[in-house]
Amino acid sequence: MNLPPWIAAQVKALAPGPGHALLLQGPSGLGQYTLGLALARAWLCEAPQAHGGCGECPSCHAIAVRTHADLCVLMPETAMMALGWPLFEKAQQEIDDKKRKPSKEIRVDALRDAVEFAQRTSARGRGKVILVYPAERMNAIAANALLKTLEEPAGDVRFILASEAAHQLLPTIRSRCLTHTLAWPSADEALAWLSSELPADDAQVLLRAAGGRPEDALRWAQAGLTARQWRELPRALARGDGAGLADWAPAQAVDALQKVCHDLLALSAGGEPRFFAATDLPSPVPAAPLAAWWRELADALRTVEHPYNPGLMQEALVSRARIALHSSSLVTARRP
Ligand SMILES: [Zn+2]
Repeated sequence: MNLPPWIAAQVKALAPGPGHALLLQGPSGLGQYTLGLALARAWLCEAPQAHGGCGECPSCHAIAVRTHADLCVLMPETAMMALGWPLFEKAQQEIDDKKRKPSKEIRVDALRDAVEFAQRTSARGRGKVILVYPAERMNAIAANALLKTLEEPAGDVRFILASEAAHQLLPTIRSRCLTHTLAWPSADEALAWLSSELPADDAQVLLRAAGGRPEDALRWAQAGLTARQWRELPRALARGDGAGLADWAPAQAVDALQKVCHDLLALSAGGEPRFFAATDLPSPVPAAPLAAWWRELADALRTVEHPYNPGLMQEALVSRARIALHSSSLVTARRP
């Protein structure tokens, strides 16, 4: 069980702690899910070590193969499928029969199953754990069902809620939990860990692209983003070439454009870029058109989850980027 070092340190600190409900919060990409699962493993382990679950006992093994009778995982079905968790039988059947698509929210049905789970006796005698991730994906009905169980927990059940947007949770849920804010890895730790997962060049560039959040960087790499594509993005956009964004979800495309814009704004103010190397950015740009572009991107972010037409939106974003970046080259060309 090779946990990233910054996660291992948090397991060590949190596993012996008090409380029946823990809320893990912080921005994406720092390892909320990894930490939540590692804590569940530590709590259910038959031979817990100082650093968490032993990784070898029947309980740790059952978690590794996703069949632990005392661990209930509450996630949107899309996340369960992506992370290799089996769905409840009925849900799997409905999806197999194409009666509906996998849910992007945590379903109320799943919550009801979890409430039942909380009332059952522990199968292995070491208590039970309910892991909810991302906790903000519960709608109000599901959240209220969880709240009742949180308020009157059966004796031996513990909760781990992990969230990248804890401010969206019901205050009544937050107040029932001990809150832990995810620790950031040091730059060296993050790079060392990511370099063990990716080619070294990719690790460095993508870690920077992800603003230092290693799990985001890894997820992007697994989705096919390479260091080269990232480095070429700003200049491609200046040419009006949006091919580099074509495979991305609209929200991710807007995020990437904001990073280009952010770094150019930083350069124009005499600062350092954060997400790209300075050599990968087009020549310096005056701040005014960049600031206007920035405001438009912030607006776009608000509607991006449900674009009327994703293809058109992508085209509009790229064409807008070209204008913003091109205004710079016109200004540059006018310089003596
Ligand atoms: Zn174990």
